[in-house]
Amino acid sequence: MSLIYLDNAATTKISQRALKAYVGASEEYYLNPSASYKAARMAKERLEEERDYIKRALNADDKSTIVFTSGATESIQSFLLPLAKEKPGEIIATRIEHAATKEMLFSLEAFGWKIKYLKTKNGSVDISSLDELIGKDTRLVLSIHTSNANGNIQDIKRLSEKVRDYDKSLKHRILIFSDMVQSFEKIDIDLKNLDIDGASFSSHKINGPKGIGALYIKRPESFIPFSKGGGQENGLRGGTENLPGIISFAEAIREHEENKREKRERAKLISRTLREGLLNLKARLLTGECSSPYITSFSYKYPSEVTMRMLYDKGFIISAGSACSNNKKGSSEETYRALGYSSEDAKRAIRLSISDDTTLEEAKAFLKALGEI
Ligand code: PLP
Repeated sequence: MSLIYLDNAATTKISQRALKAYVGASEEYYLNPSASYKAARMAKERLEEERDYIKRALNADDKSTIVFTSGATESIQSFLLPLAKEKPGEIIATRIEHAATKEMLFSLEAFGWKIKYLKTKNGSVDISSLDELIGKDTRLVLSIHTSNANGNIQDIKRLSEKVRDYDKSLKHRILIFSDMVQSFEKIDIDLKNLDIDGASFSSHKINGPKGIGALYIKRPESFIPFSKGGGQENGLRGGTENLPGIISFAEAIREHEENKREKRERAKLISRTLREGLLNLKARLLTGECSSPYITSFSYKYPSEVTMRMLYDKGFIISAGSACSNNKKGSSEETYRALGYSSEDAKRAIRLSISDDTTLEEAKAFLKALGEI
């Protein structure tokens, strides 16, 4: 039985183009980009071309940089961990962050940082609750962009405008960070317009290879990395650069950028079909209006594991809530509770996440199978 894959928020299949780019680059650019001999210069030049390309794809400021990492988990850690060396202050965060961020916040708490949490409303972060939390000790405000649990998009533009207003009265710049893993190449990102200080991205969520990610840093000159290693990435991240991974990641982005309007319209049609179909089956939608068309979350009659198992037997791979890994029991349920859903909905939450390869027929087949259970 061939399985229909509807768990693309956990990871995607590498595209043929990205795979070919990876293999080609492994042969062509095997020299160490940081080596000093002339022959390695080509590898270095190619690395910088891809960095510039990704910056342009994100509409990042000229003075900003992209640091290549092993994935979004490392990108998030790299931005947050340097705070451990500073005098502790306050961080305002959300309770719906990915485990990669949550764990870092717990670590920073151990270093004396105080974490305050924004409220949620209708399945999204309530940005106006920032006013009750911000103060002279606030050093960082962070919020995930597209929720990996229900696909709702947080208003980072409004968040950054609010924080920048406070900057003026507090007379210091508060850092803003956003985890944009589930937004990249799914919805438009315009970093110049957002005025944030850091953001995380991951290649394997957009049909690129695993083990490669990016960290956006708006002001590299004032960023003090935790680990410098051999001075690679302009001194911002140590370790030999994964050039095949970087080239393949950039190729996956190029592929997404081609005909992206048509692809997103198709994704919207599929998500509309799924959402209307789910409502007809009396499922409760846990995804709101302002959401990524690539993620639809709902609660149904049975506990998540039971629905997942029954649908697996019918040929569908879906996930319980926000699970990117099965290693942390309960974390998906916690995220739904934090989004404001009842404990019954949280226990029954199912996440469907599509890719540009998902067809309307597959979405309809899923609805039919769900109706049958
Ligand atoms: N942030 C979000 C929102 C995610 O969905 C994921 C995926 O697991 C990550 C961060 C971590 O990404 P990576 O697997 O590249 O470390």
